[in-house]
Amino acid sequence: MSRVWNFSAGPAVLPEEVLREAAAEMLDWHGSGMSVMEMSHRGKEFTSIIEQAEADLRELLAIPEHFKVLFMQGGAIAQNALVPLNLLGGKTTADYVVNGSWSAKSYREAQRYCTPHLAAGALAGPFRGVPPAPTFQLSADPAYLFICSNETIDGVEYAEIPDLDALGRPGVPLVADVSSHILSRRLDWRRYGLVFGGAQKNIGSAGLTLVVVRDDLLDRASPLCPSAFEYKTVAANRSMYNTPPTYAIYIAGLVFQWLKRQGGVAAIESINIAKARLLYAYLDGSGFYGNCVEPEYRSRMNVPFFLKNELLNELFLAETRAAGLVQLKGHKSVGGMRASLYNAMPIEGVVALVDFMKEFARRHG
Ligand SMILES: *Cc1c(COP(=O)(O)O)cnc(C)c1O
Repeated sequence: MSRVWNFSAGPAVLPEEVLREAAAEMLDWHGSGMSVMEMSHRGKEFTSIIEQAEADLRELLAIPEHFKVLFMQGGAIAQNALVPLNLLGGKTTADYVVNGSWSAKSYREAQRYCTPHLAAGALAGPFRGVPPAPTFQLSADPAYLFICSNETIDGVEYAEIPDLDALGRPGVPLVADVSSHILSRRLDWRRYGLVFGGAQKNIGSAGLTLVVVRDDLLDRASPLCPSAFEYKTVAANRSMYNTPPTYAIYIAGLVFQWLKRQGGVAAIESINIAKARLLYAYLDGSGFYGNCVEPEYRSRMNVPFFLKNELLNELFLAETRAAGLVQLKGHKSVGGMRASLYNAMPIEGVVALVDFMKEFARRHG
């Protein structure tokens, strides 16, 4: 068996240790004589799995008690609809900062449910930074302010999360799509009303969507919100109103335990900083490659880069694949290459990529 260095933006690399544990437990989880996939979601075995996963997540992210953790389905794209359906509470507008492809998509989905207001940014790229919070133009009475704090496609990450108290709007809840950097860095819960993310980037396998929502926001759902997607209903039933994505929750739980063994979020955050530094420093110094994002807003998780001679793109991709460095092709809207450096990508993988890039530049420069 040989494993590659997988730079996919998602579904993405998982810790090898987690995959080995899941494999060892596949046929018989902890003496139950069953796979996790075959268990009743209401039985004592699975109850212990979901409760441990929630407790570990709360510990890793220091989630305060007045926030609920919901294990949902539908992905982050479903949340683009579920956020307005759950949070508008009869209001007719919500504010959006658009600084990348995903927040643009969130804005457009919100148009089905309200008249969203563009508080900062633009609906079309190129996206190379984040508008500073003091320049946000909030509307008079928005239901919430929406941001995507790490734009996976454009490689743009908020250097600092907007503080609505400091902006003089303490009553406006901040909603953040954190799909592609959750658990890569610490979160200051005083700034957020709700965060959500699909699991397939930095948590586990596809099929699970995590929502963390402040208690006081649970009472605002539209009567048209499907019961299975109403945060209050999901919370009241501890994510068991209907059958939750049991196997994906189990995998997420193994990843949370792995993360605790690495020293937790602060420890993985320093490794993520070192990984990103290594690649950006090489890109900036090379002359052969480049990156367009303003340095302050460069994502630690998703690094888009390009070859100055684009005629070499196909050769670069073919040779990286042959060298066991895969899924480096950039998103079609940005072009070039993209390396995603999620928690489960060890620094050795980034070293291997940079070494290959140096060698390729030497041969073709
Ligand atoms: C991947 C991604 C999405 C889409 O998630 P789905 O699970 O496909 O719905 C949305 N937002 C961000 C920031 C993402 O990285």
